[in-house]
Amino acid sequence: MCGIVGYIGNKEAYPILIKGLHRLEYRGYDSAGVALVNAEGNINVYKTKGKVDDLESFTKDKDISGTVGIAHTRWATHGEPNDVNAHPHYSQSKSLAIIHNGIIENYAIIKKDLIKRGFEFQSDTDTEVLVQLIEYIKTTNKVDLQRAVQLALTQVIGAYAIAVVEKGNTNQIVAARKASPLVIGVGDGEFFLASDATPIVEYTKKVIYLNDQEVAVITRNEEIHIKTISDVETTPVVKEIEMSLNELERGGFPHFMLKEIYEQPRRIAEAMRGRINVDRNRVSLAGIIDNKEKFINAKRIIIVACGTSWHAGLIGEYLIEEFCRIPVEVEYASEFRYRNPIIHKDDIVIAISQSGETADTLAAIELAKKSGAFVYGICNVVGSSIPRNTDSGTYTHVGPEIGVASTKAFTAQVTVLALMTLTIARLKKTIEDDLYKRLIHELAEIPEKMEKTLATNAKIKQIAPIFTYAKNFIYLGRGYNYPVALEGALKLKEISYIHAEGYPAAEMKHGPIALIDAEMPVVFIAPHKGIYEKTLSNIQEVKARKGRVFSIITQGDREVRKLSDFCISIPETEECFVPLLASIPLQLLAYHIAIAKECNVDQPRNLAKSVTVE
Ligand code: GLU
Repeated sequence: MCGIVGYIGNKEAYPILIKGLHRLEYRGYDSAGVALVNAEGNINVYKTKGKVDDLESFTKDKDISGTVGIAHTRWATHGEPNDVNAHPHYSQSKSLAIIHNGIIENYAIIKKDLIKRGFEFQSDTDTEVLVQLIEYIKTTNKVDLQRAVQLALTQVIGAYAIAVVEKGNTNQIVAARKASPLVIGVGDGEFFLASDATPIVEYTKKVIYLNDQEVAVITRNEEIHIKTISDVETTPVVKEIEMSLNELERGGFPHFMLKEIYEQPRRIAEAMRGRINVDRNRVSLAGIIDNKEKFINAKRIIIVACGTSWHAGLIGEYLIEEFCRIPVEVEYASEFRYRNPIIHKDDIVIAISQSGETADTLAAIELAKKSGAFVYGICNVVGSSIPRNTDSGTYTHVGPEIGVASTKAFTAQVTVLALMTLTIARLKKTIEDDLYKRLIHELAEIPEKMEKTLATNAKIKQIAPIFTYAKNFIYLGRGYNYPVALEGALKLKEISYIHAEGYPAAEMKHGPIALIDAEMPVVFIAPHKGIYEKTLSNIQEVKARKGRVFSIITQGDREVRKLSDFCISIPETEECFVPLLASIPLQLLAYHIAIAKECNVDQPRNLAKSVTVE
């Protein structure tokens, strides 16, 4: 949610900031803005509703000089997305400008107090309250900017990643964070600041991750100085990031989403590299092996996640219960954190998040840690908050996911859960040798089978425009394919704005069947595995009511094909791995329907990547 960028160095800041905003636009795109401190020390703020391109047009005839600057692309929480609410925000005297990602929960009470003291507000945002508070503290306490930021932040409840520039100071940016991400890039005589490393990699691979409640003073030609908000000095740790520029470009595809769908065979192979050894019939995840007693003795596993990751978690539940015989509960992190759940010391809590910054999941982790449970993270972004706040974990290693609708991150999460399952089942001896070997061999084949599944793209592209009339869709699957139905429906909702519901196929008759008529498209995930016959009956029930059936079937299947209006075949695989293949045609279906409806698939309305607010 929201992208922030900053630069201080010897180059002109504006082009670097704009490029950075483009790279972060997937995080928020309601409005965009920039604040530049020019050579005379004046702060020029330019901001506008809309995308970064709109900001560029807006600044065409403006003074965009300056080697220090901060910039923002917003995902509105407080106040509608308009010009005035766009960041950066000036303080009352215009001596400070701020950008902010997060929410100041107690903004109303602080605002009231500042109004009493004569402050006037231009916007409806919580962010403007913070910059006014900083100015108020700075002038009344006669302290420098860093101290004023520290003191202001001790009064604030909520989440923030902020950067502040000051009039007359062409040498400094002050930045701070709590619960919203912030990375500092350390270049040669220059520093970069961003919500994640994507705007930084083309300039430097050296980064510093700020910890919660730290305030950094970034001064031209000096070392970075960091203090906590309670004034304790900390030593910055410089880390190397592994990310190539290539990974951040569309590489010939019209959209990041399509590129990421197509990357899946290669990325899933990478996610398994070094973890699965087919010749030696072994799967081994270091995070599990290093903590094997915990997993062998776990009485229960609780998976906490949000959105797509929650769907991956459901597949994890089916896998772990079937093969490891450990009871699993899957919880929405946002519910878990507030409902006073029962967590035991011998529970393992697995937190899943692509970005590693999901606010609700981070809060659920804190709660689990307080109860003494062992917390394991599954996430994609290296160095993000979840891996830094969990006892152990596994990276999915699929490279940056820029498309807002998650695709490769989902299949990679399922792959990691499958690897975890096999590792734990082996340790617990809950799996027969033959089955263990068979599953290893099959999992290793998945990338090749994904490649074959992608060949369905042309057919899906042809079918998709037929469905642009639809206002609703139903997705049905049983067993391992029930979460796939949920995920397929979510993809369609997210990018095509067609309402879609996922259901366990057998539940249809308990309600949703009332919706079925000749207009209603019903997507069945009906591979020739598991409770196939039962799914067949469910398809009959839909056909009897004239529903339009689009089904995902196993290659060679005839019975479902006969009953379906549209059919997509995927290669045969083990029942527990079908989600890895079946989700691909559903991603493509959502993509092509959205394209046929002329929707912006990479930046769907109201959504943003990396949900760093509650
Ligand atoms: N709460 C702030 C606003 O609504 C920041 C939102 C963001 O993270 O983009 O302006």
